[in-house]
Amino acid sequence: MPNNNKDSCINEFDPNALDENQAISKIVKSVMPIRETETINIKNAVNRSSASNIKAEISIPSFKNSAMDGYAVNLAGLKKNNYKLTEIATSLAGKPYNKNLKKNETVRVMTGALVPDNSDAVIMKEMTQTNDQLICFSTNVKKNQNIRFIGEDIKKGQIILKKGDAINYSAISILSSLGVEKVKVIRKPIVNFFSTGDELIRTGGKLKLGQIYDSNRYLLHGLLSKLPVKIKDLGIVKDKRSAIMTKLTHAAKSSDIIISTGGVSVGDADFIKDALEEIGKVNFWKISIKPGRPLAFGKIKNSLFFGLPGNPVSAAVTFQLFVMPAINKIMSKRKCANIIIKAITKTELRKKPGRTEYKRAILSEKNGKYFVESSGLQGSNIMLSLLKANCFIRLSSEVRSIKSNSIVEVIPFQNYI
Ligand code: AMP
Ligand code: MG
Repeated sequence: MPNNNKDSCINEFDPNALDENQAISKIVKSVMPIRETETINIKNAVNRSSASNIKAEISIPSFKNSAMDGYAVNLAGLKKNNYKLTEIATSLAGKPYNKNLKKNETVRVMTGALVPDNSDAVIMKEMTQTNDQLICFSTNVKKNQNIRFIGEDIKKGQIILKKGDAINYSAISILSSLGVEKVKVIRKPIVNFFSTGDELIRTGGKLKLGQIYDSNRYLLHGLLSKLPVKIKDLGIVKDKRSAIMTKLTHAAKSSDIIISTGGVSVGDADFIKDALEEIGKVNFWKISIKPGRPLAFGKIKNSLFFGLPGNPVSAAVTFQLFVMPAINKIMSKRKCANIIIKAITKTELRKKPGRTEYKRAILSEKNGKYFVESSGLQGSNIMLSLLKANCFIRLSSEVRSIKSNSIVEVIPFQNYI
């Protein structure tokens, strides 16, 4: 069925296209964070979002201990700069000696071992000598040196993670050091995705003239498998309105987010927007960015739907820019700050005004300065320049050209999980 009456997507300036920030805020507004939670072992909680505020039930350290292998001393009443003390015991990590020191006494202590309650310094072993069974040292001793105090790291009752905080390796380490074994997290969002296109063949199949291998499902799988989401690959769907509607209806039964690629533009075989209009609600479908202008966003029942463009590079860029904020919000993740670096462009950069452009580029550093250069051809079908890139250069809508050696905005890929 030809789509002759579709809006045009040809001009650089398109009054119906949203700018990217408007699009992101529309997306974020329409996302309802998942309420359901599950309690899981902290080992399995990497990257998950905490479903509650977590308070420390104990202090860390929970007892006064030594930061060094050495000798615990009580400085009161000792002769400065010429210390001669009797070693009365050893305190090991896990095998504490917990009596107080008397005058001229010292306890040999290991790193992490309890120090006597009335000790007020630990002298590093390397600074001491043993003469006639006395422990001698003549260093300048600072009160409290090499002693770790109760609660110096974490105080009992302190909030360690807030609701929505991502649980990373250091959070897991802290939780385990607090004795926590299980943690309540937001359940994983379910993301279903499929590719559309009559030309697509599954990898492993034999290509006929005019056909291509479907790479977008692998792209999406790669992007999503780094995230704490449940992924379901729904395969390839033909460029047929009814087939797309059937697939979307089926996907909406079990998804928080549905992603398709392809068929979202104004070609004769682009049915995504029509199908979405029929069975759900279109929020918007054009954004003034390059690559990736046609992008259908809407809802089918309770599932969010992203119809990403078919060109793999456009699909990758729009996933990062528009799907990620939705995934973050649905997991209650608080806003992840985007790090933008100012770098010197090694070459002249050109673009047509009217759309914000994301150029694939290589960021490098020399003598404390950042430099950036294009990673190759920038057509939205050119995948090799995405492979070589480690960042995007963002050129705002009105820019036409940037001279070499000018400062440009760069978004490193590490920004994206
Ligand atoms: P479309 O958005 O459907 O007009 O597709 C734009 C371009 O992306 C066309 O050259 C398609 O052949 C290509 N394309 C669409 N889907 C895929 C896919 N899943 N994998 C690789 N290329 C694709
Ligand atoms: Mg297509």
